[in-house]
Amino acid sequence: MSSPLDRVDTSTAHSARVYDYILGGKDHYLVDIEAGDAMCRHWPSLPVHMRENRLFMHRAGRFLAREKGIRQFLDVGTGLPTAPNLHEVVQEVAPESHVVYVDNDPIVLAHARALLQSSPEGATAYVDADMHDPDAILDSPEMRALIDLDQPVGLMVIGMLHFILPPADGQLVRRLLDPLPSGSYLAMTIGTADFAPEEVGRVAEEYARQNMPMVLRDLPTTTSFFDGLDLVEPGVTQVHKWRPGSGQRDVRDRDIAMYGAVARKP
Ligand code: SAH
Repeated sequence: MSSPLDRVDTSTAHSARVYDYILGGKDHYLVDIEAGDAMCRHWPSLPVHMRENRLFMHRAGRFLAREKGIRQFLDVGTGLPTAPNLHEVVQEVAPESHVVYVDNDPIVLAHARALLQSSPEGATAYVDADMHDPDAILDSPEMRALIDLDQPVGLMVIGMLHFILPPADGQLVRRLLDPLPSGSYLAMTIGTADFAPEEVGRVAEEYARQNMPMVLRDLPTTTSFFDGLDLVEPGVTQVHKWRPGSGQRDVRDRDIAMYGAVARKP
């Protein structure tokens, strides 16, 4: 049987592995180290920014599980396993929670299968699919088996929409939200150059040079992705300012190039 690792291209950098490298993980190749180092030279705040993005995911997941009673999650653009992963966050609140992970990177797939172990009461599954093909996600056997579309779902699109270029971006998010029932939630973070335009612009150029074109959004564009949904307080903010916990470290605004928000589907 062919392994997903047969599809891994180690000659070019990949976003999931660059992210893993910068966050201090171990699942990346030399090309990813070189790309990550170049990006950090352009903008030394990148590790802080990525860490805060990950912490937003923890807080948003916990918020949806604990305060909104969400028990099933669809996480698109999962990335390499980095503890705690979403299912660990939400199963700590409710062990019976179901989480479906989606990514298009074969190395993520290989690691996810090995590492994303559910609690015995809950369930996790992993879908090898691209967000550009929402039907492949929605019609997947994993999604059908684990997600009951009569019950609210938490759709998480964290740190990945900047890799989805316009004009498809907003439509793709809508397509994923469409079949979800009222009372479902969207938690999303989106890259922006609003706070350190020069440095973050250079990082985006580096990503593009490495064959990972990305688009950064301003506040109005970011907010427009949530049109028709009810934003949860405090609305769209930089990720470190979204419901910070008591343990929140001091972070400078110019170190964070990511907006985040959580919104309810009416
Ligand atoms: N959500 C995680 C990881 C973000 S890194 C976190 O915030 O911690 C971005 C991830 O999106 C990578 O794993 C990359 O492989 C994935 N990705 C990028 N483009 C994608 C696409 N078109 N479809 C599915 N996944 C994609």
